[in-house]
Amino acid sequence: MAGKGWRVHKFGGTSLADPTCFRQVADILLNGEVGHQDAGQVVVVSAMGGMTNALLGLVQAAEQSADNIPTGLEAISVRYEATVRDLIESPDVATELLAQFNADIDDATDVLNAVSLVGSAAERSRDLVAGFGEIWSARLLAAYLEQRVVADTRERPVRWVDARELLVVEHGEMGPTVVRDVTQNNVDRLFGGREKGIVVVTGFIASDRDGLQTTLGRNGSDFSASILGALLKADSITIWTDVDGVMSANPNRVPDAQVIEDLSYNEAMELAYFGAEVIHPQTMSPAIEFSIPIWIRNTFNPAARGSRIGIDHEPTQGIKGVTSIDDVALVNLEGAGMIGVPGTADRLFGALRKAGISVILISQASSEHSICFAVPSQHAGEVEKVVRRAFRAELEQKLIQRVEVQDHCSIIAVVGDAMAGLPGIAAKFFGTFGSAGISVKAIAQGSSERNISAVIDRADATRALRVAHSGFYLSNKTVSIGLVGPGHVGSVLLDQIAAQADRLRAEFSLDFRVRALATSSRMLLAEGRIDLSNWREALQRDGQALDWDVFTAHVNADYLPHAAILDCSASQDIAQRYLQWFGDGIHIVTPNKKAQSGSLSYYDELHAVRRRNGAHFLYETTVGAALPIIETLRDLRQTGDEILSIDGIFSGTLAYLFNVFDTSKDFSTIVREARDSGYTEPDPRDDLSGMDVARKLIILAREMGMRLELDDLEIESLVPEGLGDGSIDDFLEALPAHDGAMAERWRKANAAGKILRYVGRLNKDDGATVRLEALPADHPFGHMNLTDNIVRYVSRRYSDNPLVVQGPGAGPVVTAAGVFADLLRLASYLGAVR
Ligand code: ADP
Ligand code: ASP
Ligand code: MG
Repeated sequence: MAGKGWRVHKFGGTSLADPTCFRQVADILLNGEVGHQDAGQVVVVSAMGGMTNALLGLVQAAEQSADNIPTGLEAISVRYEATVRDLIESPDVATELLAQFNADIDDATDVLNAVSLVGSAAERSRDLVAGFGEIWSARLLAAYLEQRVVADTRERPVRWVDARELLVVEHGEMGPTVVRDVTQNNVDRLFGGREKGIVVVTGFIASDRDGLQTTLGRNGSDFSASILGALLKADSITIWTDVDGVMSANPNRVPDAQVIEDLSYNEAMELAYFGAEVIHPQTMSPAIEFSIPIWIRNTFNPAARGSRIGIDHEPTQGIKGVTSIDDVALVNLEGAGMIGVPGTADRLFGALRKAGISVILISQASSEHSICFAVPSQHAGEVEKVVRRAFRAELEQKLIQRVEVQDHCSIIAVVGDAMAGLPGIAAKFFGTFGSAGISVKAIAQGSSERNISAVIDRADATRALRVAHSGFYLSNKTVSIGLVGPGHVGSVLLDQIAAQADRLRAEFSLDFRVRALATSSRMLLAEGRIDLSNWREALQRDGQALDWDVFTAHVNADYLPHAAILDCSASQDIAQRYLQWFGDGIHIVTPNKKAQSGSLSYYDELHAVRRRNGAHFLYETTVGAALPIIETLRDLRQTGDEILSIDGIFSGTLAYLFNVFDTSKDFSTIVREARDSGYTEPDPRDDLSGMDVARKLIILAREMGMRLELDDLEIESLVPEGLGDGSIDDFLEALPAHDGAMAERWRKANAAGKILRYVGRLNKDDGATVRLEALPADHPFGHMNLTDNIVRYVSRRYSDNPLVVQGPGAGPVVTAAGVFADLLRLASYLGAVR
C-alpha cells in the first residue's frame, strides 16, 4: 500500500461492548471516510466494556476467598466465548482464539489463587490480571478484521501487537512516563520499514524497565494511543467513544451539554483533569510535541464531525466547559501564626506529599491567615492527622488555631483559554450559584486563568453543574414549559409549538421546551423536552399519577433560566394554583378566565404576589380568543386615553343563535342543532346563562381599573326559570316549552324594525350589563359573520366614532394561536428584561 503517514485510532470499552460494536468498529476502519484513507492504521483497543472492572473485581474477591474465583472467571469466559462465536466464522480460527484465551484464564487462575493465599493483592498481580482484557479484545478484533478483509478480497494486511513488547514506562509522582529511547527502538522495529495496513495494539498495558507488566492507569488506553501517535509522528489521533465529542459538560449530568468543536490542548487537559472522563488527562502531552491533532468521535455516529483538540487557536468563546470532581474533602488550616511566616506552605505540602496524598486545589487568602486545600475523599481520614503532625508545635503554641476537614464536597470548575481576557466570568459563575442558593466553601483560580474552581457541598454538585452550564451556555430565552389540560386548545397548541420550534430557535434563539404535561389525573415529565410528535402515547406509556408539587418543581427547574405554565384548562381548581406558581416566579399564559374573573380579593392578592416575584401573566385569549381585545384596551390606557365605554358581542355561540333565529325554526331546535355541530359548550346552559360573557366583561372592566365583582353585573340568563339544574337531556327536553316566549320577543322586535342580539355593555360610571337587546336593524352588531365577536371602545380619543375589533372569537385553532402569540410576547419580555 502506498504509504502516507500513520493514523492512530483508539476504540474505548464502550465501542467494544458486544459483537454489534465490533462490527461497527470494523465498518469504520474498512469503509467510509476512514477506511478509504490511504494511510496505515494503528488501532489501539481497550478491553471490552466492563471487562477491566470485572477483572479488578475478581482480584478483590480473591483477596476475600478463593471460592469466589471460579464463578467470576466463568462469567468472563461465557461472555468472551459468545462474542468469539458470534463474530468468527472459521471454526479453526475460533478454536485457536479460545485456546489462547483458556491458556490466559489458567494463568489468571494461578495469579488469583496466589492472591487469595496471601489475602491481599500486590500492585503487580493486580496489573497482570487487569491487563488481560486488552489482550483478548486486541486478538479478537485483529482476527475479525482479517476475516472481513479476506471476505472483501482487499489486500490489506492485519496484525496485532502486544503493547508490552512496545511501550516501556516508568512510574513517577506524576504518573507513568515513557522511556523514550527503548520505546522508540521498539516502535521502529515493529513498525518501521514494514508494510502498513492495519495494526491492532493493546491499550492500557505496558512494560517497566525490568520487562514486567504494568499499566498506564484507569482509562489509560487514550494515553497509549497518543504515545504511539507521537512515536510514529502520526497524522492524527482519533479517540472513538460513545459521545459526539468532548462536551461542554458531562452529558449524563447536564442534559443540555453540547459538543465543543475545537479545543486547545490545554483546555482539553484542564477539562480532563477536572473530571471529564471522556479523555485521559495525560493524553495531550505526547501529541503536543509534534502538534498532532486529537479527534474525539462517536463510534455509533461516525457521520458527526467530533471535537478537534489541537494547537491553540484564536479563542472564540469565553468558556469551553464545566466539569466536576466529586468526592473531595476540604481542609482548612487557620491561624494568626501563619501570617508572614515563610515556608508554611512548603511544610504543609511536603508533609502531604510524603504521605502520598495528592492535592487537587489550593486557595490561600492573601493575608496568609488561612490555607485551604482539597484532597480526594479517600484521604479525608488521614489528612487531618498528617497536618496535625506537621504543625504539632504551632498547634500547641496556638499559632495555628484550627485544622478543619469537611468531607463530602465537590469541585466545580469552568474551563476556557479565553477566560483570562474576559471580565465578568467569575461574577457570572458565582452569581449562578448565588441565585440557585448553592453556597460556595472555597474558590480558586489557576494562575493560567484557564480555570476557575469552586468547592461546594457534594449534594449540590449536579445542580451546580447545571446552573453554571445554563448560565454560560443557554440562551436567555430558554423557557421551561409545563402545559396543563392538553384538550381541544392544548393539543393544537402543542402541534403549533412543535411545528415552529426549529425556526424560532434558529431565527430568534427562542428555545421553548415543553417539559411537562398534566391532565386532570396524570402527568408526563421529561428532563430535556417532551417529544411533541407522540406525546399522547408517551403520556399513556410513561405518564405517572398527577402530583402538583412534583409537576411544579419539575417545570421550575433551577438550571433553566425561565419557567412558564400554559393553563389550557377551564378549571377553577387550576386557577387557584396560580398563587403558588406566581409565588415561585413561574410565568402563566392562559385562556382560562377563572382567575381573572374570580373574587376581587383573590385578584388583588394574585397580582400582588405576581409583581413581587417578577412573574408575567398573559391572558389575551380569555376574551375573544386571539383577537387583540385586551392588548388594544391596554394600549389605549397606557398611551393616556380614557375609556368611557365598551360594548360588543362576546360570545360566538350566542352570536350564532341570534344570527340564524327568525322564528322559521323554533329557538330550541336551533340550540339543539348548534350543540350537535359543536357550536355550544357540551351543556348549552353554560353559554345561555350569560356567565361566560359576564366573566369576559369583568376581565375587561378590571383592565380598565373598575373594581367590579361578578355580583355587580346585571345578567340576563336565557336559561328559563327552573331549568338551571337537572341533566342536559332534561334541559333540552324542557326547552321547547319556552319557544313561544322567545318567538314573541322576536316578533315584537321585528315589528318595531329591530333585531335581537345578546350584548355586553360596560360603562365607566354605570357598571355593566349582559342581556338580550333589541337593536335597530342597521346596527353594526347586525351585520356580522355567523360566529364572529365584535368589541367597540368609546374613549376620549375615539369618541365620535368608536374603535372596533371584530373577527372570529372562538375555536381551538385561533385560541391556541393566541396563546402561542402570548408565549412569544412573554419571551420578548424576558429577552428585554435580561
Ligand atoms: P470509553 O469506553 O470510550 O473510553 P468512557 O466511558 O471512558 O468511554 O468516556 C466516555 C464517557 O465520558 C461518555 O459516555 C460520557 O458519559 C462521559 N463524559 C464525562 N464528561 C464528559 C464530557 N465533558 N464530554 C463528553 N463525555 C463526557
Ligand atoms: N480498560 C482500561 C480501563 O477500563 C483502560 C481503558 O479503557 O482505557 O480502565
Ligand atoms: Mg475512557
